[in-house]
Amino acid sequence: MIITQQKSPEDVLKYIPEGEKVFIIGCGECSTTCQTGGEAEILKMKEILEKSGRKVTGSVIPDAPCVAAQLKTAMAKNIKAIKESDSILALTCGLGAQSIKENDRTKKAIHIGCDTLFMGATDVKNDFVEFCSACGDCVLELTAAICPITRCPKNLMNGPCGGQDKGKCEVDKERDCAWIMIYKELKERDKLHLLKELRPPKDYSKTTKPRKRNMSA
Ligand code: SF4
Ligand code: SF4
Repeated sequence: MIITQQKSPEDVLKYIPEGEKVFIIGCGECSTTCQTGGEAEILKMKEILEKSGRKVTGSVIPDAPCVAAQLKTAMAKNIKAIKESDSILALTCGLGAQSIKENDRTKKAIHIGCDTLFMGATDVKNDFVEFCSACGDCVLELTAAICPITRCPKNLMNGPCGGQDKGKCEVDKERDCAWIMIYKELKERDKLHLLKELRPPKDYSKTTKPRKRNMSA
């Protein structure tokens, strides 16, 4: 899931002139779960915009605005309101916002309502946590399914560093050292031999942006 947080009303309003007619697009998946682009947040944003002299022409929540086909269908159903608008406000992640730009045949200006934070999962407390940085060359097989790229702040491929203290990370003492966790897990599974192999520095050429996976080949 893509984790987002809403921009402050001041930050959103700063780029939308008074009197502007705005159509709002949310997201039925990640942004709804993050409470940044679901029905409640759209209603609240509509109220903020209208109280401050902007006009909201309508809104829609595609299941996933990052899926072109779903977004196009949702926009087509609202084309009259979109055409009447000066701009579109995206209450989505950066993927959703750019997908709106790519798929909007009316070529409206796009305003951004959310900050995109990371790819995340929920923990037992229902907080969002970052487990994967999409490095393009997964090493979880070798690290007991604990990602050193994401969960070690120094992204070390051969840890732990000298700073770990009683299993805690020197960068954030509240957090368990990822490499101590990896060590303990591998030991329990009798796979410590995996740690004996020196891992070369990460090949970041696999993350040269923008990345694309061709599905038609
Ligand atoms: S190694 Fe970590 S960052 Fe890379 S793909 Fe695997 S989980 Fe994601
Ligand atoms: S203490 Fe552990 S998690 Fe923290 S930076 Fe060092 S190796 Fe990484």
